[in-house]
Amino acid sequence: MRLPLDQTHDPERRSWVESANDPAGDFPIQNLPFGVFRLEEHEQPRIGVAIGDRILDVRRCAERKVLPGVLSQAIQALAAPTLNDFMALGRPQWSAARLAIGNLLDVRFVNDCKPHVTLIPMKDAQMLLPATIGDYTDFYASIHHATNVGSMFRPDQPLMPNYKHLPVGYHGRASSIVVSGTPVIRPMGQINPDDAVPIFGPTRLLDYELEVGLLVGPGNGLGQRIPVAQAAEHVFGLVLVNDWSARDVQKWEYQPLGPFNAKNFATTTSPWVVTLEALAPFWVPSMARSVDDPPLLDYLKPPEPLGLDLTLEVSLSSEGMRKQGMAPMTVSRGSFADMFWTLDQLLAHHTSTGCNLRPGDLLASGTVSGPTEDSRGCLLERTWRGTRPFALTDGTERRFLQDGDEVTLTGWASLGGRPRIGLGRCTGIIQPAR
Ligand code: MN
Repeated sequence: MRLPLDQTHDPERRSWVESANDPAGDFPIQNLPFGVFRLEEHEQPRIGVAIGDRILDVRRCAERKVLPGVLSQAIQALAAPTLNDFMALGRPQWSAARLAIGNLLDVRFVNDCKPHVTLIPMKDAQMLLPATIGDYTDFYASIHHATNVGSMFRPDQPLMPNYKHLPVGYHGRASSIVVSGTPVIRPMGQINPDDAVPIFGPTRLLDYELEVGLLVGPGNGLGQRIPVAQAAEHVFGLVLVNDWSARDVQKWEYQPLGPFNAKNFATTTSPWVVTLEALAPFWVPSMARSVDDPPLLDYLKPPEPLGLDLTLEVSLSSEGMRKQGMAPMTVSRGSFADMFWTLDQLLAHHTSTGCNLRPGDLLASGTVSGPTEDSRGCLLERTWRGTRPFALTDGTERRFLQDGDEVTLTGWASLGGRPRIGLGRCTGIIQPAR
């Protein structure tokens, strides 16, 4: 998935948007993630690019024709109310737009560019889903997560025999994907708490799952496959994903066909899509397969097995903590480089049957868990099914999520002293069941 570096990655590059040069910020001039926003409820949504604490109004750039080198087809796509048309165009046009937008914001060209662009304070904008997501697939690509969860439910055989042969996944629900900040209502469901008589009621074991999502670019036609070596050409960019899960519903329903109602009530994504171009400097060798692992079939062999050195964090704040002005508490921190299956393998396997992926489809990684206790990406693992609760800073105990809890996912790459490329935030507050 590694792409070549060019002038847009130059770590010395600075923007005339002062806040973009803050080393602790997510959105320096080397990032330039795409999103969709509006200022008023009734307004047509427009495409923007995050720069520091501002949003570059990309639709206006398209209308004013200030994006040299960007073809008219891409100009048209950038004036649309979602990113789908732009995602469909493919890497040469994405790269041309990144180059032109970077130059507009470069401190060296301030006098030529500043008068021609519109910047909007991020705090004034309402972010929307970046694309119309037609289909959503969720994988299970962390071997640490799979081993932990497996050992709770099947102590004699934590990993199923297929785990090291293929990336396990299921088809999720696209209609309930919501953008960061949307409240999440505690779902009702059928649960069987005493393994006796099932009841219908609010889930008691509500959980988050820290995941990274990939948004598909051009995609493939029905009957065609995406070869593992070409997978990068089909990845527009990455977002953070919280795959909210009702564990008691899941436990009762998941056999034999996998999760259904336990995960279809809400899935939250971050609003800014960080492009694969922006992440080019941060690839590292992926988790090595051990000598005892089965050999990979050819269609899953990447030319160079690479993982992404992205730090991922989950923080939690209760209603009480927010009322007392307490900061959210970090409950886990992991790395996306710890995944067993790589993004190109997920794409190759998904399409190996000829299943078509379309621009804007979402493929999520599955819970990102690392080898240590503090890098476990969901409460099921973090509290070991609720048997090892931890205390929040307001003194209350957590096994699973309570009403009023706010979960925030963050992620960033900062390898080698380069400016930090952040994924922004993915948040949601739990509301009581209805
Ligand atoms: Mn998941």
